[in-house]
Amino acid sequence: MQVRELLPDVAAGMDQGTPDVQTHLASCSSCAAKLQGFRQTMALLDQWGAPDPGPYFDTRLGARIREEKARPAAGWLHWLRQPAFGLSAAALMIVGALVIGNRDMLFPGPAQELAIVIPVPGLPAAPGTAVGDLQALEKNDDLYADFDVLDELQVQNDVTANP
Ligand SMILES: [Zn+2]
Repeated sequence: MQVRELLPDVAAGMDQGTPDVQTHLASCSSCAAKLQGFRQTMALLDQWGAPDPGPYFDTRLGARIREEKARPAAGWLHWLRQPAFGLSAAALMIVGALVIGNRDMLFPGPAQELAIVIPVPGLPAAPGTAVGDLQALEKNDDLYADFDVLDELQVQNDVTANP
């Protein structure tokens, strides 16, 4: 451990330091000056006393506490003023922004399907898209109108109802 890290404890009298530390302090003027600075700061802090709150502090504090207890609850809006509520709201916003920003990575499937294909007039749209299906229906209007053909197919005659 560095000698300088031990200086606050040595200055406070909590640690006298190993003989190596004492030898270093005796020979190194830089560390000795630091130790002297710590000792002066701590001596100054020892002189500092808490200011006197005044003779009526306890009485006024008691009155304030009784005032707050007697006040009716402010309803759900008082949660808005709580620091915890603000932190929670901020955390929710950050999580929401992260989810929205990384939705392609988090939900790979649906985002791809949401890609909008703009049909070019005059060209046939790709099959499977809404425009392509509408064009296929329009082109094969006569065939789809004759649904008796589809009824006669009976491809899956063992299926009687939807699952
Ligand atoms: Zn030193």
